[in-house]
Amino acid sequence: MANTRDDLAAQEKITGYDEFNITIDRDAFPAEGMSPRAAKAIVNSFAWTDANPMLNLSSFVTTFAEPEAIDIAREHMFKNYIDHDMYPQVFAMEGQMVKWLHDLWNGPKGVEPYGTATIGSSEACMLGGLAHKWNWRTARAKARKDTSRPNMVTGGNVQIVWKKFMRYFDIEPRIVPLKRGNYRLTAERLEKVVDENTICVVAIAGQTFTGEDDDIQEIHDWLDAYEEKTGISVPMHIDGASGGFVNPFLFPDYKWDFRLPRVQSINASGHKFGLVPPGLGWVVFKERKIFNEDLVFYVNYLGGEMPTATLNFSRGTAPIAVQAYLMLRLGRDGYTRIMRHTLYNAIHLRQRLVDSGYFTIMNETQRIPVVALTLNQRAKNFNEFDVSNKVRERGWVLSAYTMPPDAEEVRSLRIVVRPHLNRTVMDTLANDIVNACQYLERHGGTATAPKLHGHHQSAPKC
Ligand SMILES: *Cc1c(COP(=O)(O)O)cnc(C)c1O
Repeated sequence: MANTRDDLAAQEKITGYDEFNITIDRDAFPAEGMSPRAAKAIVNSFAWTDANPMLNLSSFVTTFAEPEAIDIAREHMFKNYIDHDMYPQVFAMEGQMVKWLHDLWNGPKGVEPYGTATIGSSEACMLGGLAHKWNWRTARAKARKDTSRPNMVTGGNVQIVWKKFMRYFDIEPRIVPLKRGNYRLTAERLEKVVDENTICVVAIAGQTFTGEDDDIQEIHDWLDAYEEKTGISVPMHIDGASGGFVNPFLFPDYKWDFRLPRVQSINASGHKFGLVPPGLGWVVFKERKIFNEDLVFYVNYLGGEMPTATLNFSRGTAPIAVQAYLMLRLGRDGYTRIMRHTLYNAIHLRQRLVDSGYFTIMNETQRIPVVALTLNQRAKNFNEFDVSNKVRERGWVLSAYTMPPDAEEVRSLRIVVRPHLNRTVMDTLANDIVNACQYLERHGGTATAPKLHGHHQSAPKC
């Protein structure tokens, strides 16, 4: 409708502050619209008190992008990734990156790699788990054996998505408990949990609690010996949500990937150390045939016959395009330099905190840039939760949590050092943490560990 003379007159009276005089009805869907400036001001101000993403060091997810990456995201914002028929070049770009990741993770030459971009590692983990469930069931059915009781083996340090996967897809969880001083899956208790119904063992590269890797080689060798003894061959899936974009660059000679024959699938989060803003994961299979053809749907979509093998359907293309930009822009060399400075910053921060006399390191075998600490005897009247609360006054978000069973008596403070942080920032953070400890030592702390609800841990999510 055209503006009336009155409307125009009203607009002239706008002071620039009018949007601050709008009250939103929280119960009813907005009846009328408002100016773009007002809507923008309201949306942004609504979130003012949220954490500053740059200071949110409880998360692994990327909070920095170069201007060119942001341009690319904007350029691809209106493309629906799943519409392969209309955007076949996006699909080709994704396939290209799967090949590159297969190479980065030392997949065998001369095979057809297979994999897909996902919304994050969660979707990627579920696809990996499903492939192993299908392969196990197919093999069991062929041998005329019972297929009703699949199980999956992981450590107690597993990220919550795997518990979700096992519950949603009816797989018995066989979770090897942790213990004080050992927070990763090793071969030690495998004989109690692995059997003919084990669809796979999931080992982590760069776990969320301490940044360590499970003992991937030892687990692999144990499974070899188990096969020799029993004839049962159990594959491995590596949850490389974080480690998938760190190990190849910092520890190229370390065998955590497809160089180990039992490793058949690997997931990684493009939006963690892949350096893409939120919304991207990857799952890559050692070769095409591991992703059971049963799981691929050929859909007649907008006039084309296209394979889809993701759990999710429509999604944005921007993160995929940004990942392609980063792989080209950085290459192995660039990622290596970035991961190196990030790791050095983590080591510097860790050393400063240990030197303060308040903390003990939890993760001597850490691989990704995570600082995981517990308070030592010097901290008599406060705990890790107090420290986390106190530094929050300065804007820092650090995770404090109790470890999963059977190490619940251990409390931890975890700091994810991401590539956007520099040495000066590390020193500011170290000073803030030490000052918080000194304050708490004088005044005492009051925090108690949050109560956990059932099996849903309060532990680090991402
Ligand atoms: C973050 C993470 C996940 C979940 O990945 P999203 O990318 O957040 O979906 C799974 N496993 C591990 C080890 C993780 O660090």
